[in-house]
Amino acid sequence: MREIDTTMTPEQYAAAEQDSRIRILRRSLDLRGGAKYHVKMLCFEPGETVTPIDYSSPYRDCHDTTPVVIVGAGPAGLFAALKALELGLKPVIVERGKTVEDRKKDIALLGRERKLDEDSNWCFGEGGAGTYSDGKLYTRSTKRGDTSEVIKKLIEHGADPKIAIDAHAHIGTDRLSPVIANIRNTIISHGGEFHFGCRVSDFIIHNDKVCGVVCLAGSRFEGSAVLLATGHSARDIYELFASKGWPLEAKPFALGVRVEHPQSLIDSIQYHSRKPSPLLPPASYSLTAQTSGHGVFSFCMCPGGVIVPAATAHGQQVVNGMSNSKRNSPFANSGIAVTVGLDDARQFSDAGPLALLRFQQSVESAMFSLGNDDLAAPAQRLTDFCDGRLSSSLNRSNYLGPTLSAPLHDLLPPFVVQCLQEGFRLFDRKMRGFLTDQASILAVESRTSSPVRVPRSDDGQHILLRGLYPCGEGAGYAGGIVSSAVDGINAMSKIYNNIKLRSL
Ligand SMILES: Cc1cc2nc3c(=O)[nH]c(=O)nc-3n(C[C@H](O)[C@H](O)[C@H](O)COP(=O)(O)OP(=O)(O)OC[C@H]3O[C@@H](n4cnc5c(N)ncnc54)[C@H](O)[C@@H]3O)c2cc1C
Repeated sequence: MREIDTTMTPEQYAAAEQDSRIRILRRSLDLRGGAKYHVKMLCFEPGETVTPIDYSSPYRDCHDTTPVVIVGAGPAGLFAALKALELGLKPVIVERGKTVEDRKKDIALLGRERKLDEDSNWCFGEGGAGTYSDGKLYTRSTKRGDTSEVIKKLIEHGADPKIAIDAHAHIGTDRLSPVIANIRNTIISHGGEFHFGCRVSDFIIHNDKVCGVVCLAGSRFEGSAVLLATGHSARDIYELFASKGWPLEAKPFALGVRVEHPQSLIDSIQYHSRKPSPLLPPASYSLTAQTSGHGVFSFCMCPGGVIVPAATAHGQQVVNGMSNSKRNSPFANSGIAVTVGLDDARQFSDAGPLALLRFQQSVESAMFSLGNDDLAAPAQRLTDFCDGRLSSSLNRSNYLGPTLSAPLHDLLPPFVVQCLQEGFRLFDRKMRGFLTDQASILAVESRTSSPVRVPRSDDGQHILLRGLYPCGEGAGYAGGIVSSAVDGINAMSKIYNNIKLRSL
């Protein structure tokens, strides 16, 4: 068996993939000098046995073991629960939304009847915000832990093993939902519990230690510790902390718009060809620029994707993006966001740690008031936005709802407009043709990360509320599916260590 590091054309790569004596270990697309794959692979000699990779994990039977309450069944909560099963702790998951199957029906209803369910939507419900996403599985923050454990567990639960080799792996929303249901089955069959439709509204505190949760409808769940993994949209949890005077911190985040281009245009720019090889995937991009004191960057780029309404309560207008595994829609979309810090939200300084949350809410409600509808998204042609004029007509869009022409250059916060306009011009220098009237922007891309941090000590516990372990994106310590899952795994390991220490 030999390990080989090489470059291949898409055609050579397709042939290597079919060869049973070749195991691809890693592949990335190199766009310099024509699109080629950079490939690391194992070549087996004749007579050598090609053994399949074992992705199974050592889960223990936890029906009668120490319970740990997990609030939220997003990536952080679910991967914390799988870790609990490995460590011999019983995960008791309390989730405000529904199972992934029932959630799907509510999302369809939102599209049909324009009626938002505040507990079951694009962000809330089993699988969390990432369920109806592109399922991009790469993360910039690899320092926090072992991302391969997350990839392995996704494959164990039905994801395509190719996600282990791609430098920019993605699953696609159509493939992610069954994986989430399989994770649920593993958790239940090993003794864990799920309590759906339970929105946590308070904590049970005994002897200055959090030991359980109370739900809006009155149910209570107790355990040796409580892991809080409610995501960046659980504003009621931030309000609970603020109303009780429990420590929180404002956290810089980013806000902007979602830009949408014809996919064929992005392909021709990125692959430097009007007719790129059909074996190449729909092209993506990743752009950053420094403008007027703020960073502007592309975020959650979805090749062949759709734009989705991602609000979690009435009176908000929020967009995000997703794609299915084939990424085969004719549109490419991406969040383009501007960094927002406390200096940009001085008008909300009275709100203390919630100042940036109030800023985020104010933009979302201003965007909602344009259409007064849970679905309608304000939109503008990209060139009109940059030139400061209302679009007399809009491009066709793959947004899952109606769009309405709006002067976003007048309506978004002025510093956001200025930075986006500068950013789009700079992006056009890096990707000639990016700034075109064939592209549209839709507002507002505001749920990029949490505008609040729930501060924790090195042992994983909240700095005041002992027994409470804030983690994942909502705690402000992670962003994205993989990093939130890693943070959940780390938090559960800390709970285990602290329980073990207490029992010594
Ligand atoms: C449309 C969309 C597309 C995305 N695409 C990608 C992508 O391609 N790749 C990527 O890496 N990231 C993507 N993201 C971001 C990613 O989904 C999040 O970073 C990730 O899901 C955060 O994980 P989490 O577990 O910390 O929180 P969440 O996924 O937000 O999960 C929190 C859970 O807590 C529940 N909850 C909230 N409040 C309460 C309460 N009071 N009581 C009980 N339960 C509660 C929620 O219902 C939810 O299930 C996308 C997000 C969206 C919205």
